[in-house]
Amino acid sequence: MPIRQLAPDVAAKIAAGEVVERPASVVKELVENALDAGARHIRVELANGGLGLIRVSDDGCGIPSEELPLAFARHATSKVRALGDLERIATLGFRGEALASIAAVAGVTLLSRPRAAALGAQMAVVEGEAGSLAPAGAPAGTMVTVRDLFASVPGRLKFLKTRGTETGRCVQLVEQYALAFPEVRFTVVSEGRQVFTTPGDGKLASVLVAVYGLAVAEHMVPLDGTDDTASAKSEPEHAPAAGAGASATRPQVSGYVSRPSCYKSTRGYLSFFVNRRWVQSRTLNFAVEEAYPSLLLTGRHPIAVINVALDPAQLDANVHPAKTEVRFLYERQVFAAVQRAVRAAVLATAEAPEVSSRAFAIPDWSSPAVPASGDGGDAPRASAGDASLWGRTPPGTEGQPGEAAGADAPVAGSDAGGFAVPGAADAPVGGRKLPVMRVLGQVSQSYIITEGPDGVYMVDQHAAHERVLLERMIAEWRSRAVSSQLLLQPVSIELAPAERESIEEHLDALAQIGFAIEPFGGDALLVRALPAVLAAQTRPQPLRELLLELAGGGAEAASHGETWEEHALANVACKAAIKAGQTLSPEEQRELIRQLEGASAYQSCCHGRPTMVHLSLSALERQFDRR
Ligand code: ADP
Ligand code: MG
Repeated sequence: MPIRQLAPDVAAKIAAGEVVERPASVVKELVENALDAGARHIRVELANGGLGLIRVSDDGCGIPSEELPLAFARHATSKVRALGDLERIATLGFRGEALASIAAVAGVTLLSRPRAAALGAQMAVVEGEAGSLAPAGAPAGTMVTVRDLFASVPGRLKFLKTRGTETGRCVQLVEQYALAFPEVRFTVVSEGRQVFTTPGDGKLASVLVAVYGLAVAEHMVPLDGTDDTASAKSEPEHAPAAGAGASATRPQVSGYVSRPSCYKSTRGYLSFFVNRRWVQSRTLNFAVEEAYPSLLLTGRHPIAVINVALDPAQLDANVHPAKTEVRFLYERQVFAAVQRAVRAAVLATAEAPEVSSRAFAIPDWSSPAVPASGDGGDAPRASAGDASLWGRTPPGTEGQPGEAAGADAPVAGSDAGGFAVPGAADAPVGGRKLPVMRVLGQVSQSYIITEGPDGVYMVDQHAAHERVLLERMIAEWRSRAVSSQLLLQPVSIELAPAERESIEEHLDALAQIGFAIEPFGGDALLVRALPAVLAAQTRPQPLRELLLELAGGGAEAASHGETWEEHALANVACKAAIKAGQTLSPEEQRELIRQLEGASAYQSCCHGRPTMVHLSLSALERQFDRR
């Protein structure tokens, strides 16, 4: 085929493809325009998943009627004049091609009136053909109506999902911007029904409730420096760097992250904004997840809403036509700042999970209307130090995120400040320590019941012992002093060739954690020494299984951000710990609790199960109708 210049309408449709991939891309561009126009209320209407209709109305600055035709022109923008402006972009848009692109693949009508103008104006472009400009009555602000998206590009239509999915993506898009702009009131109406709304009160916590529900919002804690107290401020905590921190060269990190007890099975709940621009960033994903090392079970991800405010000069937002990626000039600095902020917040939240009132079958729906802004806020801040010692998350007792506000919610909410927890205030760096507890007895040969300063703690003896052993071994391993027990009778283990190889590959690493293993002819191996905690466990078959598990654990460890050694030690601790079903003498019970009091991540075992649940005095009082 000879080279030919494309006809303008074909070229426009091709270019539009970069910007307008699906209905949500249109919503994104229009919402960004409204935000750039300073809107305080943005209303999005959808019909047929956005394919029939997308209408975005705002109360922003409006467009003077004589400029309406220009708004549709490609590379026409009021936000950038010279190339140098690109270095200090404070607006979300700047490429001047959104409206042109949308108008190439849909029918678009603009109706707008600047506040100062007596009369507004309207103009339509259908499939790239501009209609005439006509005066029209309109409220102050702008209304953009997009009809029959992709009707002329059937190829695009084929790639779209069901109406429900496309609607969902549009709503999700608005949710993201609502999180970035708590001072703006957002409303989404789909097929005539209101499906999403935020109050626009300037509080990120309110938006968290609107987007993720109360049950999740209650488990979110603010990052240090997140000021979410004043309502309806004009420049809330998310103020773009250009407005608030243009002079600050260090990245300012604000937002909320979930407590380790609250997680999702996808990364879809990690929202990042850079100068309030919603971005996708593997770097930032990683920075957050890394801040929860070994807190999360395989395949579990935290929830986070984080804004990084940065001098726009340290940022390239013009990487991607849809502007969803940014490049950082000092990427490591941004990474470190995010990780530091998240880690500090996560460490400060460590606590025993509360007993769900549901366990007592007396539901209590009197949840506080507004989520506690996180009682971690005034807890002792731990340094960003040694989070790898931390246990993974207790998934159990707080209820799955996404459930209706559970009966346990009020327990967490109203307890804050009710009873002081001795030991919490003077906790050493590294997180809270468990308060001193009085052992009451053992239940079902599995649980130790204790009394603490604020109610009753029920401790799972296996999980607790596992945690104690793990911390001890990690400390030993760090100082290269893992206690190893030489066996009087070395144990020989028969293996398949591949199994032997996989263990042999790890002989050095295994030696670091206390094993001495050597070849024993053919595919057998001889175990001469064991980690001391395992000294009593010399039966060949369980030992064989453990070694294979350890040898094969690399990938699994990596998948949740642990080192091979951490993973291996966790496995060893699990094997070595006392089991459920074992009767413990009162002395043994007390000794275990005493050791747990010394653990820095006493609240969960190495597999993320809780070591204990807490029934607070206030929860008890509620259960007994004392208040
Ligand atoms: P960009 O946002 O990159 O400047 P667009 O094609 O999205 O490009 O918009 C072109 C211009 O139209 C903007 O620069 C702005 O001046 C004007 N405009 C678009 N939408 C609005 C709106 N909702 N309110 C006020 N002005 C708007
Ligand atoms: Mg724009």
